[in-house]
Amino acid sequence: MSDLTIDDLPVRDELRGKSPYGAPQLDVPVRLNTNENPYPLPDALVERIAERVREAARHLNRYPDRDAVELRTRLAEYLTRTGGHEVTLAHVWAANGSNEVIQQLLQTFGGPGRTAIGFEPSYSMHGLIARGTGTGWISGPRRDDFTIDPEEAARAIAENRPDVVFITTPNNPTGNAVSAETVLALYDAAQAAKPSVVVVDEAYVEFSHGESLLPLLEGRPHLVVSRTMSKAFGAAGLRLGYLAAHPAVVDAVQLVRLPYHLSAVTQATALAALEHTDTLLGYVSRLKAERDRLVRELRAIGYEVTESDANFVQFGRFEGEGAAHAVWQKILDRGVLVRDNGVPGWLRVTAGTPAENDAFLDAVRALKKEQS
Ligand code: PMP
Repeated sequence: MSDLTIDDLPVRDELRGKSPYGAPQLDVPVRLNTNENPYPLPDALVERIAERVREAARHLNRYPDRDAVELRTRLAEYLTRTGGHEVTLAHVWAANGSNEVIQQLLQTFGGPGRTAIGFEPSYSMHGLIARGTGTGWISGPRRDDFTIDPEEAARAIAENRPDVVFITTPNNPTGNAVSAETVLALYDAAQAAKPSVVVVDEAYVEFSHGESLLPLLEGRPHLVVSRTMSKAFGAAGLRLGYLAAHPAVVDAVQLVRLPYHLSAVTQATALAALEHTDTLLGYVSRLKAERDRLVRELRAIGYEVTESDANFVQFGRFEGEGAAHAVWQKILDRGVLVRDNGVPGWLRVTAGTPAENDAFLDAVRALKKEQS
């Protein structure tokens, strides 16, 4: 009985032989592998969270606000102020991380007998959540330089007629942004094929050199922009993601959300963080400068680097089967954890504090020396 494994259980066929998603959580001095923000929350915000949570704790005998009205109102204000497009409570929905937002979207618009497409390599959870929701997954094309060819991508949409289209910009793990023109071309291609929902995953948009694509929501009721507080707000541990879309989309996802899915503690903490938006966005400027420094230095050392609009950088190219993973291990041996996303020939490093980035750059410099 004790050596029972998953294989002995009557799990769904499509889950058989699969492994759970997750980067290794190793206890090493420098962790630059999960695109987290390296700066701990400032003391004033920690105090404010404690105050807000203390107040919420008095009412934990009751279920939380099921519709998270105050939080969605504040998120709408943030998007309006920073995204170049006016949105209100009715356009915004929030959940436990943008992963849950994506899950709710796939439960609503995907599901058995339906399909979703993403242009890979991209955020692998899109495909995994598709699988978890019984949605068929289609891997769409990217060019060798990791940009999306709008014509090729539109052709893949026309051929497959997916119900949900994912466009990640800036893209993870490659770091490059997708232009508004390309997103519009894919939206039009998707609508021509069948009335599908196009999800623009803007998890990293605050780090971008360019603007948010929120203004594209105007007049496009099948477009959804998803966001998170895990990256720019430095609050990955909070688990708060959100979307902006036509109010009808917000009504639709409520058909699948679990009642009271966002705890009162989560709502209180997120509200406190939003009160400190300007301080938190100050860290974003520092991280953008560090990201640009990583790009410059890696190129100076002799690596190829994909243009980055995110808080991480993809670097390579490591030729040969398993070469990227061997380099990943050697960097780890020097006390720095980066990410091997399985993109052949490439690794990804998250921008950390200046000291963490120096440790990483020292490690890869030493490696280059060893190899020459
Ligand atoms: N989208 C993208 C592109 C991501 O990289 C991530 C996190 N790695 C997420 C969504 C999910 O983030 P969270 O659930 O923490 O909001």
